[in-house]
Amino acid sequence: MIIKPKTRGFICTTAHPEGCRQNVQEQINYIKSKDPIKGPKKVLVIGSSTGYGLASRITAAFGCGADTIGVFFEKPAEEKRTATAGWYNMAAFEEEAKKAGLYSKSINGDAFSDEIKEKTIELIKKDWGKVDLIIYSLAAPRRTHPKTGEVFNSVIKPIGKPYTNKTVNFHNGEVSEITVDPATEDEIRQTVAVMGGEDWEMWIEALKTAGVLADGVITVAFSYIGPELTHAVYKNGTIGKAKEHLEASAKNITNFLKDINGKAYISVNKALVTQSSSAIPVVPLYISLLFKIMKEKGIHEGCIEQLYRLFAERLYANTLLLDEEGRIRLDDFEMREDVQNEVARLWSSVNTENIEETTDIKGYREDFFKLFGFGLPGINYDEECNEKVDIPNII
Ligand code: NAD
Repeated sequence: MIIKPKTRGFICTTAHPEGCRQNVQEQINYIKSKDPIKGPKKVLVIGSSTGYGLASRITAAFGCGADTIGVFFEKPAEEKRTATAGWYNMAAFEEEAKKAGLYSKSINGDAFSDEIKEKTIELIKKDWGKVDLIIYSLAAPRRTHPKTGEVFNSVIKPIGKPYTNKTVNFHNGEVSEITVDPATEDEIRQTVAVMGGEDWEMWIEALKTAGVLADGVITVAFSYIGPELTHAVYKNGTIGKAKEHLEASAKNITNFLKDINGKAYISVNKALVTQSSSAIPVVPLYISLLFKIMKEKGIHEGCIEQLYRLFAERLYANTLLLDEEGRIRLDDFEMREDVQNEVARLWSSVNTENIEETTDIKGYREDFFKLFGFGLPGINYDEECNEKVDIPNII
């Protein structure tokens, strides 16, 4: 099949296996270029196929030499359809891990279900006995509750009143004003049910009850705060409510793990182009400005740089730096005063005419297509390639 990008809004419905392989390889090369980390040896990553979860799995395997199990929800290729990018990423990861002599297995299915939790636990029992680190990195539009069967949908909306601000169509650079209506009480409840911490707590409870958590186990989930400018639609909006719930879950989990000296952390990460963040209004324009400023200052990072810092300079460093709320902050460079002052200064003047010079919209677009394996050097996108790729060690 000759595979080209096909976009529908902020979704790309095709993915390129060779491009995805190269993405994974680039991240592995980055980690191998850094000092090895004295870290965990058995790592479970829930949501391991793209974004922050993928970078977590790569850092654990190639930075710490850890055995990994990845859980994700991806689709293989079907007639006339490519597989999803995460599918190709996991195929490339499994092959590279095997070459490096590392244990790695993948579980494809709904992580919110009891069935996938049971499958994962069985595998840990059979192959490892215990797990040292669990990264919880799900970003999902919906969740079926495993006990009640209720289907929740998450929305990204402000709370209380409508929110109007600038946004960009990153495909054509058109800047326009967007108004997002406030969420209803039920939409808030559903978003918290999808992106809050209930499922994270369910995972940890199931793992602990099965006796597969090592003494001193660590678990981490990711959050985002961002600047004032995005607060209405993020921090103070429906997703922010879900993140508050996630933070409360971290405290519940730490309590629950006391007897085995376990700890749950929230890591507040940097805004990056992922399949999830491109769906949030206003955020792509903010990211385009942020990237330009951070690149100019030489402090720009992608998922893999963030994850290396999380492992090497936070979780497995001699002292673990936390903010006053007990959170890990990897958004320290993004939130620097000089960076945010510059974003705020440029925000008011950015428009369709000056977007290319004022922002790094070009970098945003490149990162977006790269998520799906497009635009990588050395790949001939006019050539036939085999879209039917198997993931070794998939369960
Ligand atoms: P992503 O969309 O790149 O990855 C989501 C992962 O979840 C994928 O591996 C996907 O397969 C998996 N997944 C989704 N639904 C699933 C299901 N039902 N069962 C099993 N797996 C499922 O997302 P991301 O941007 O890396 O986000 C991960 C976390 O990081 C989220 O909590 C997000 O809020 C947080 N975060 C993201 C940013 C950002 O800018 N992207 C910044 C800070 C924090």
